[in-house]
Amino acid sequence: MAFLDQNPGLGFPAAAGLGLLVGSFLNVVILRLPRRLEWQWQRDSREILGEPEVYDPPPPGIVVERSHCPHCKRVLSWYENIPVVSYLIQRGRCRGCGTHISLQYPLVELLTMLLFLACVWRFGFGWQGFGAILLSCFLVALTGIDLRTKLLPDQLTLPLLWLGLIASVENLYMGPKAALLGAMAGYFSLWSVYWVFKQLTGKEGMGHGDFKLLAALGAWVGLKGVLPILLLSSLVGAIIGSIWLAAKGRDRATPIPFGPYLAIAGWVTFFWGQALIDGYLQLSGLK
Ligand SMILES: [Zn+2]
Repeated sequence: MAFLDQNPGLGFPAAAGLGLLVGSFLNVVILRLPRRLEWQWQRDSREILGEPEVYDPPPPGIVVERSHCPHCKRVLSWYENIPVVSYLIQRGRCRGCGTHISLQYPLVELLTMLLFLACVWRFGFGWQGFGAILLSCFLVALTGIDLRTKLLPDQLTLPLLWLGLIASVENLYMGPKAALLGAMAGYFSLWSVYWVFKQLTGKEGMGHGDFKLLAALGAWVGLKGVLPILLLSSLVGAIIGSIWLAAKGRDRATPIPFGPYLAIAGWVTFFWGQALIDGYLQLSGLK
């Protein structure tokens, strides 16, 4: 770590390469984790309802099973698995059957690479940088899964919450008090919005995954970061929502669940929270 810190000429390319590889793993998580969970839920439900066992083989595991083309099931060789490069060489098509490969693959790989670079640039090659990288990976996976399935699995939000709290015990970004209060404020702020909305309209405006995600983010940004995340995510949501309305007309439901907005706002606040708060106070003449 210290070696990379002193040799950024090696450190940054290493971070970029690692980002591409991890991005390719996150693609697999985004695609396979929800299917895996659904399979488990169905099995549990049958058991609870006392329904007979049916033959239902598990979907592919996340770590062990090799990647294959979802269309022709051909297992990919190593040279078809190189992040971004393979996609470009094959012009976005499967070598076996010619089916289009989703743009999600290279996009997630590139995004993860950029996030890794931003993490080591902002926080260096020590534990702070490593923590920022972990947070970024969770947020990429959660965003991808929420966009595809409208789920924010506990299997990701809860470990992210624990990791933030554990980091605070070591005073990595802040002390445990700020992190714990941040997590609580994150959870209860959205929970109360949800509760009031439900009392007024009888509808459920957001999922419980959103509270848990904001709780997790609160543990990473601390108490004073929670309000900036809420404001920023509503702002981004309002902008994208109105663009969508203008483009698609009024009847269309919101295109994007709230999770990705929270993730983006959380990441930005984690990186530049203090600068945002200072800038805002200065603009409004409070400082
Ligand atoms: Zn194929």
